[in-house]
Amino acid sequence: MHLLVIEDDAGIAATIRSALEQAGFLVELESNGENGWFRGDTEAFDAIILDLGLPSLDGLTILKRWRKAGRKMPVLVLTARGNWDERVEGIDAGADDYMAKPFRVEELVARTRALLRRAAGHPSPVIEIGEISLDTRQMRVAKAGIPVALSPQEFRLVSYLMHQQGRVVGQLELTEHLYLQDFELDSNAIEVLVRRVRQKLGTDAIATRRGFGYSMGGTAE
Ligand code: CA
Repeated sequence: MHLLVIEDDAGIAATIRSALEQAGFLVELESNGENGWFRGDTEAFDAIILDLGLPSLDGLTILKRWRKAGRKMPVLVLTARGNWDERVEGIDAGADDYMAKPFRVEELVARTRALLRRAAGHPSPVIEIGEISLDTRQMRVAKAGIPVALSPQEFRLVSYLMHQQGRVVGQLELTEHLYLQDFELDSNAIEVLVRRVRQKLGTDAIATRRGFGYSMGGTAE
């Protein structure tokens, strides 16, 4: 899961980034409103954490622009303490959730996970496909109840595919959701990653649709 955090307070941004990374997410940071708006408008993020008070372009304007342009990714807004009108405005502008500063970063992580699950249509924190289960709170994957140790990148692949409920996902989309923007990627990186996960979870855990991509829980060909 690939997240964008737009926050101009360097200390808060660093805290959020480190907590989300520890929770297994891939995190991009922007401190400037204009840049943050542009990246949210042009890149595929699974969710965005958006501070409302930002230099060059404020968070509310950013959110309104995204929604007007039809961008549907879940957005959690960060508001100033006690500023209830800002929260109302944020929700009216299309925010999916909000947190008022100061907040516990653990709660932000939990709310982000819940947003991602809801966006994927999973009300429960544990997603199951056949014998394989993904616990989004513990970041654990198990096969037939037995925990399987995955590297962070392997976990991100399994988590992304399992959130898609069997939808076939192409290489380019996987690349966008599993690697940071500037990462130098080998052309066969996704293939290699899929192979490693299959070695751990079983060959049929991930289905290949030749020419289209990969799926978990869908019908294979
Ligand atoms: Ca701010």
